Amino acid sequence: MHVETDILIIGSGGAGMYAAIEAARAGVSVFLADRSLIGRGGATVMAQMTVAVALGEETPDHWSHHLADTIRAGRGLTDERLARLLCEDGPDCIREMDTWGVGWARRDGHIAQAMAPGHDRPRCAYVDFLNTGPAVSKTLRTVVNRTSGIRKAGDLMIVDLVRRDGEVTGAVALHLSTGAPVTIAAKATIVAAGGLTRLYRRNSASANMGGDGYALALRAGAPLIDMEFVQFFPIGHLAPRLIGMDPIMWDPFRYKLGGRLLNSDKEEFTARYGTREDGKYVVTRDLATYAIIKEVDAGRGSPHGGAYLSFEHCSAEALRAAFGPVIDRLAANNIDLTKMPVEVAPIAHYHMGGVAADARMETEVPGLMVAGEAVGGANGANRLSGNAITEALAFGRRAGRSAAERVRGGRHVFRPADARAAMDLITADGGPELNTAAMIQTLQATMADDVGPFRTKAKLVRALATIDDLTATLGERPVGDGGRFDMRRIDWLDLCNMLLVARIVAQAALRRTESRGAHQREDFPGMLPEWQVNQVAHYPGREVALESMPVAAKVAAQ
Ligand SMILES: Cc1cc2nc3c(=O)[nH]c(=O)nc-3n(C[C@H](O)[C@H](O)[C@H](O)COP(=O)(O)OP(=O)(O)OC[C@H]3O[C@@H](n4cnc5c(N)ncnc54)[C@H](O)[C@@H]3O)c2cc1C
Repeated sequence: MHVETDILIIGSGGAGMYAAIEAARAGVSVFLADRSLIGRGGATVMAQMTVAVALGEETPDHWSHHLADTIRAGRGLTDERLARLLCEDGPDCIREMDTWGVGWARRDGHIAQAMAPGHDRPRCAYVDFLNTGPAVSKTLRTVVNRTSGIRKAGDLMIVDLVRRDGEVTGAVALHLSTGAPVTIAAKATIVAAGGLTRLYRRNSASANMGGDGYALALRAGAPLIDMEFVQFFPIGHLAPRLIGMDPIMWDPFRYKLGGRLLNSDKEEFTARYGTREDGKYVVTRDLATYAIIKEVDAGRGSPHGGAYLSFEHCSAEALRAAFGPVIDRLAANNIDLTKMPVEVAPIAHYHMGGVAADARMETEVPGLMVAGEAVGGANGANRLSGNAITEALAFGRRAGRSAAERVRGGRHVFRPADARAAMDLITADGGPELNTAAMIQTLQATMADDVGPFRTKAKLVRALATIDDLTATLGERPVGDGGRFDMRRIDWLDLCNMLLVARIVAQAALRRTESRGAHQREDFPGMLPEWQVNQVAHYPGREVALESMPVAAKVAAQ
């Protein structure tokens, strides 16, 4: 099967859908492809909390204050051109979503905004109760459906980008439900394929977040930036089983109600690591992560290897007032917070690194743009809560606009011969049998144990050795027969990307001999001025090359 389109968009999360809408309303044709169902894969639909944006409706605010907070959180590494785009365009996107009926929570007629750590004032809009991401996805899906010029294809996994003379001319995809290869000719391609947190054993990711976007862009010649900066969320849900809820959902309630972090002896323990909480939520994410990991290492973890989070000091009325209908969803999961704590643990949650892009969302490779979490640099070494959905919307809109400008009057330069290698991979006869599912588990365990929140040289070297072994075992011929939903082949293709991206995260973490933001080295505990540089990864052939680059030029926030 062959498709021709002006713009190919890979991924239909918040970034991809907003890009599709923006490009289509500029009058160009769009092909929106997703390996999952359109608008239902990836992170956007799962995010249940808040969107940071300087609306200034309840409390005076301006995007420059939001930018200042974003830059502060990024610990010297923020690409201020991208951060400015996020903060300056965010309010417009949020208001446009409002006109599309997303249903932002309101107080006295104004869009309500909550306080969140790292922001200097209440700045986080939301859809009650824990419905932000689902409402954002549903709204964008509805607008995509009623916008002419957008063709959609779910179950379509993009396997590689196609190039001619250094320019991206389209892509090769695997249609998962038939096993058929598909070629797509596009005058511009936007990678909006989300992040990489599936690389880790405990994560808040969906199955489609193994870093495909980074690998696709890198193999096509686009550099990646800041890949060592994986954000871990300290109190991800661990146990008991919780179905249909965001694993990071405890955060706002802990903030509101002062949920207590307890060890297996039911003692509060953060004071041991230099910070007292006294039942309030004051400890920062990195310290909470450190404290929980150290308690577990000391044998005082909860049964599933984390800490307890207890709201047992709160009355049923206070819980109902704070949690609203979420209390009923918890009850459906047999969780009664008046009688029991839950178990929480640090989980991989977001990736600050990604594809290097300018403020038009263009990469160094002609014809290739990027949007959303796939973009690196906007949040520097650490991301503020609420910035990721804003980033997805604002970057998606900008990428759609830039792509539409680029393709006007352009012509297709796709040639089937350029797609042959990727087509051969999809249609190849199966190689020797491998337990690819077990290999993914090994990789996830390695990343969690050795490239997790607290890193050392010894751990990182060990991780790279495991990644080498797994890469050698994987070989170059895909397993499986390439039929309908052939999970062995899909896992094999996933592993190719996961191993490449994991290698870059580990190499960048090993090379950065300091601690900064989300990258913490136990053997190099301080932040060093000489490391106030971005690390950029290139992939010219079989080896990844890393170099240090000065942080992108500062922008004035007027
Ligand atoms: C559980 C959870 C809660 C969160 N809560 C918040 C929050 O409250 N506030 C906030 O600001 N941020 C939050 N975040 C982060 C935020 O949701 C994401 O950073 C943002 O939604 C990313 O949007 P995106 O469009 O870039 O990617 P995604 O929404 O992840 O979409 C990427 C899409 O690409 C598709 N895809 C991937 N690979 C391929 C391929 N090879 N071929 C075709 N399609 C592909 C995927 O199926 C997916 O649909 C949360 C994240 C998670 C996981």
